[in-house]
Amino acid sequence: MSTFKEMGLKSEILSAITDLGYENPTPIQKLALPKVLESKQDLIAFAQTGTGKTAAFSLPILNQIDPNKDGIKCIVLSPTRELGLQIAEDIKSYSKNMPGFKVVPVYGGADINQQIRKLERGCDVVVGTPGRTLDLIKRNRLNLEGVQYLVLDEADEMLSMGFADDLDAILANTPQEKQTLLFSATMPPDMVKLSKKYMTDPAEISAGNKKQANTNVTHQYYKINSRDRYPSLKRAVDVAPDIYGIIFCRTRAETKEVAERLAEDGYNTDALHGDLSQAQRDYVMNRFRNRQLQLLVATDVAARGLDVNELTHVINFKLPDEDDVYVHRSGRTGRAANVGISLSLLTSKEESRLRYLEKKIGRKFEKVLIPNGQEICEKQLFSLIDNIKETEIANSHIDGFLPQIFDMFKDMSKEEVLKKIVSTEFNRFLEYYRDAPDLNKTSDKRERERNKDNRGDDSGERRSRRERREHKTAAHMTRYFINQGKKDGFSPKLLMGMINSHMDGLSPEIGQIEIMKMFSFFEMESGHTSDLQRAAKQMEFNGREVAIEESSPRPEGGGDRKEKRNRRRGRNNDQRGSGGRSRRRQSSGSHGAKRRRRY
Ligand code: AMP
Repeated sequence: MSTFKEMGLKSEILSAITDLGYENPTPIQKLALPKVLESKQDLIAFAQTGTGKTAAFSLPILNQIDPNKDGIKCIVLSPTRELGLQIAEDIKSYSKNMPGFKVVPVYGGADINQQIRKLERGCDVVVGTPGRTLDLIKRNRLNLEGVQYLVLDEADEMLSMGFADDLDAILANTPQEKQTLLFSATMPPDMVKLSKKYMTDPAEISAGNKKQANTNVTHQYYKINSRDRYPSLKRAVDVAPDIYGIIFCRTRAETKEVAERLAEDGYNTDALHGDLSQAQRDYVMNRFRNRQLQLLVATDVAARGLDVNELTHVINFKLPDEDDVYVHRSGRTGRAANVGISLSLLTSKEESRLRYLEKKIGRKFEKVLIPNGQEICEKQLFSLIDNIKETEIANSHIDGFLPQIFDMFKDMSKEEVLKKIVSTEFNRFLEYYRDAPDLNKTSDKRERERNKDNRGDDSGERRSRRERREHKTAAHMTRYFINQGKKDGFSPKLLMGMINSHMDGLSPEIGQIEIMKMFSFFEMESGHTSDLQRAAKQMEFNGREVAIEESSPRPEGGGDRKEKRNRRRGRNNDQRGSGGRSRRRQSSGSHGAKRRRRY
């Protein structure tokens, strides 16, 4: 039996799934459909999201439901509102040719009275989140006494989200006689307990090894210094110009911070976490689904139920505590016949977790060197050229302007024009990664040296430290003002210490430092103003907030006394300005909520 028809699905369902383009059953469907169509035995199915599991339980149930009979015949419980809505939508499309059939989704964060009215009008299948389902039962608005089928979808997720008690209470309101189908990606100990408590002699099926992560996923990791976590993340993103991915963080605060930093650095990203209202979460998820966002920074809980098939990358900014959570994260890429990368940023300490994770997923992790500036620039450049080549020409619109355009370029060669077009887009990367340090650990750097292929000039990496410093001092230093001086006990050593401990692994070159009585000036490698100002927000010195601002270049010869006095006057005005800025910062709520470090 290898086709849906041979399995005995009704013509109404066959026509609906044909319209959806389902030609053959997926592996989990091949196993689940006969079990549910031909027996009443309970079933545990190991399947990840993306394997076709929704159809695996919905199709055989729909096949046996008679919409002409009253009452709810099936309840599907799902961990999140998003997943619940997705399942209800799928069931609607599978049943579109079944006259009188109705499915109602019930979930928190929405008007309960509206859901009650829909239930009162009658339905065959309810898809609910545990909290709202239990609420409706307690209000006597949801009667599950007649259900023939109970589906626990993503049961491991429901347990890890703390729904065990709600499930207990809901299941106590269902009849003894029913078929229970439990779908899960993993089998944590709590689920063994749950299945023993609520299932009778269940059959087990699994599309592949139940502990295996999706084979379309390549599991990679960068070995990082912990202070380089954020710059390493940026490199992972920059080396993949067409990335469409989720960056997983462990806490809401970390999620917010990473998303804010990426946004400040010009990436197309937003954060998804539990501090957002449901409406805000929907907004972010929709923008991500519609590809208006390229990167989503998310906590595990908030990302549950986000159903996107074409993710190229899942990035573990930090590994989750539980191995099962890693399986879920990585299972979000490589779905629906696509391939994907699950990349983890690991310190030496975190690397020891790999052995356990490899056991869990049955796959090896591949260590990948953190890309250097040259590799990234190369990738970005060729991606840009590909994009230019693939861009469709809006002939009718452009033709009229061509004579004028040709005229404007008439003094330039083809080569010059090409260089200029590419440079307009590409200079940002070239500038940022010029002289960017190798972020790999020393032993890995050696490995890189050994493996270096002959792709040409590597002068950026090979230039000596001194040469690099001279090169930067000559052309790439920016001068800054800082509102701390000798009177505050400020010194070059303190300045260096503050910068080193707050710039998160970036190690920009520092040039000349001038400590004055009330304030100071220092030079730092260009291109780090926003990093520096972000770092300043966390600094406090002698009980005073630290303000750093870009200053004009140092006058030749350091300036005479009068000039310094004038500069000081000018700076005092600037200080008033910076005070205003810091007040605004305080009033900006969570953005300014981070504690300043004291010195
Ligand atoms: P799921 O695991 O239920 O989230 O399904 C993942 C995706 O696969 C959804 O977009 C389904 O519409 C699609 N799908 C499910 N079954 C099939 C099938 N037999 N053939 C093609 N696509 C399918």
